[in-house]
Amino acid sequence: MENTLKTIDSKELSPSLQAKAIISGLTRRGFLLLTATLGSCAVADPLLGTVRPSAKPGSSAIKTPSNTGYQTPRIRGTVPTNPDMTMGTDFSSKSGISFSRVLVSGKYIALTFDDGPHPQNTPRLLNMLRARNIKATFYVIGRNVELYPQVVRRTVAEGHEIGNHSQTHRLLSKLSDSQIRSELSRCRDAVNRAAGVQPRTMRPPYGGLNQRQREMVHAEYGYPVILWSVDPLDWKRPGPAVVSSRILAGASAGGIVLAHDLHAQTVDAMPATLDNLLLRGYQFVTVSQLLAMKNNSPVHQTAVAPAAH
Ligand SMILES: [Zn+2]
Repeated sequence: MENTLKTIDSKELSPSLQAKAIISGLTRRGFLLLTATLGSCAVADPLLGTVRPSAKPGSSAIKTPSNTGYQTPRIRGTVPTNPDMTMGTDFSSKSGISFSRVLVSGKYIALTFDDGPHPQNTPRLLNMLRARNIKATFYVIGRNVELYPQVVRRTVAEGHEIGNHSQTHRLLSKLSDSQIRSELSRCRDAVNRAAGVQPRTMRPPYGGLNQRQREMVHAEYGYPVILWSVDPLDWKRPGPAVVSSRILAGASAGGIVLAHDLHAQTVDAMPATLDNLLLRGYQFVTVSQLLAMKNNSPVHQTAVAPAAH
């Protein structure tokens, strides 16, 4: 927690002329071409890989920089706000290899946003989250991080967590181990270059990663594989009201919500969704905070199989 902002030069947080140049012209077109081919994380059946507790003895707790200690400036206004979260973010590698939810004793929930950063929609979402003191987890694509590093810097600076969603969003289960390593290492390095932090968890594109591959990734990168318990199918663009109602219907304590911050409709759905969940008593945490809670719970727990959709 103390290591939060030390690696970030505050001067870098303002968009520079250089950053504005990056967003323009060819690179934006490249982004749109890239995202047009992406589809969704959630097309594949998340049950592709069987989920079971780690059979391997884990090592020590994972220690990579994170910034979830950031305190949002108090905004007194019209929206409900998430309470300040003081719980830790360190989780043990013994916790498990795959998670679609975590059994917790409180009404905690983790929002995750995949496939960004997006030059307009992600900052718009960040504004909504900041107004409500909500921290989320962003599973970014390395190629987009390279296009919009300033968006990732802002995301980290405002206390959100970054997860690894591969460099180019290929179906990892079809790749060789060395290709998987390349996809994960390049994304990790892009995040580190952009914002001075390292992802601590990963989400495979389309949920596609078999059990052997998950164990390999966990052993070599220390990443738990994070799936989801709520999938609003927002990538099909059903409209903000439908996205919102699906998330609200699927929300539960310890749940992990899958959404995509590159879609305008998803971001449009957030104010009503967030306010409703806050009014229902949910407290928002990052994925690492949720996993860290698992360690601290007195209840014996095992990894839970993903919900079928
Ligand atoms: Zn994705």
